[in-house]
Formats: sequence, structure tokens, C-alpha cells
Amino acid sequence: MKPFQRTGSIRKIYRRVPSGKSKILVKRERRNKSNCAFCKRPLRGDLRSVQRIYGGYLCHICLKNLIKMSMRGNS
Ligand SMILES: [Zn+2]
Repeated sequence: MKPFQRTGSIRKIYRRVPSGKSKILVKRERRNKSNCAFCKRPLRGDLRSVQRIYGGYLCHICLKNLIKMSMRGNS
């Protein structure tokens, strides 16, 4: 194992390779699904991307409301 792989945040799978030796497969733990900061709905698809404004932070409904509020100037 490489030094950066010696951590508790990875999953190790012991797999026997065709040559008969056993090898450690290293898999990263999947990140938790991010939720909307307002309504706590789980974000999915492009809502989790960072290119989008408030991506990975607000859902489309709350973002719509936020933009509306900011345009009206009462946020
Ligand atoms: Zn929301």
C-alpha cells in the first residue's frame, strides 16, 4: 500500500488475482449525498455540480426563491 492509502477513509477489498496471489483493492468511500441548505432535500444530478450557482448547496426550488428575493431586493 502506498502511504496515502494508509487511512481509515478507504475501503480495502482482498481479491485473489489470476496468478494466485491475493491483492488489496483500494476503494474510496463514497461521499455522503449533499442536501439542500434550506429544505434539506437531497441534491442530485447537476444540482451537485460546482459550475452552477449555489451548486451542491441549494436545490432548484430554493435557488429560484433566492434569486426572486434578491431581484426584489428584500433578501
Ligand atoms: Zn431546497
